[in-house]
Amino acid sequence: MSRELNTNDGFDLRGSPGKGEGIFATKPFKVGDIVMVGIIKEVLSGNHTHASQISENEYVFHAGLISKVSHSCDPNCGIRVNETGAHDFIAMKDISVNEEITFDYAMRNYTIDHFPQQCMCGSKRCHGRITGWKDLPDEKKKEYEGFVAPYLLELDAKHSCDKVQDIQNDEVKVKSKDRK
Ligand SMILES: [Zn+2]
Repeated sequence: MSRELNTNDGFDLRGSPGKGEGIFATKPFKVGDIVMVGIIKEVLSGNHTHASQISENEYVFHAGLISKVSHSCDPNCGIRVNETGAHDFIAMKDISVNEEITFDYAMRNYTIDHFPQQCMCGSKRCHGRITGWKDLPDEKKKEYEGFVAPYLLELDAKHSCDKVQDIQNDEVKVKSKDRK
């Protein structure tokens, strides 16, 4: 058996009703298990429909079936960066056989450029539209803690610094006006 087949152990590609293709578990997983191992196939120069964003300006294609994993607003997997810089999918919940493997696109993309706004995940907790990390509610960000691409948190930190900087600049402007 080839290495490729071994790394696909535990899941396969199936048609999922009304949503096209999806990845389904062929064995049970427990919280914290690595469900899918990420392998970078190609580094891209920009965003693309099936690309994974791995840093502020880096997009890659993952090998194997990772690009086929569907979005859910109530996902059972999250992302952890492995030693190659690729995204492993880690179980956030126990997953049973025949359950679809899902993650939230917001765990990987700061903004969503290539997906329809309307979400079809069908979960009870569906937000109605697919958003990037940037537009995810704070409580959702908390829930996903430890299961998202780390660069998203760096961008958040950077953007909140920008905001503080803007406020400080505004204050300076106000003060200089007062002086006149
Ligand atoms: Zn949804």
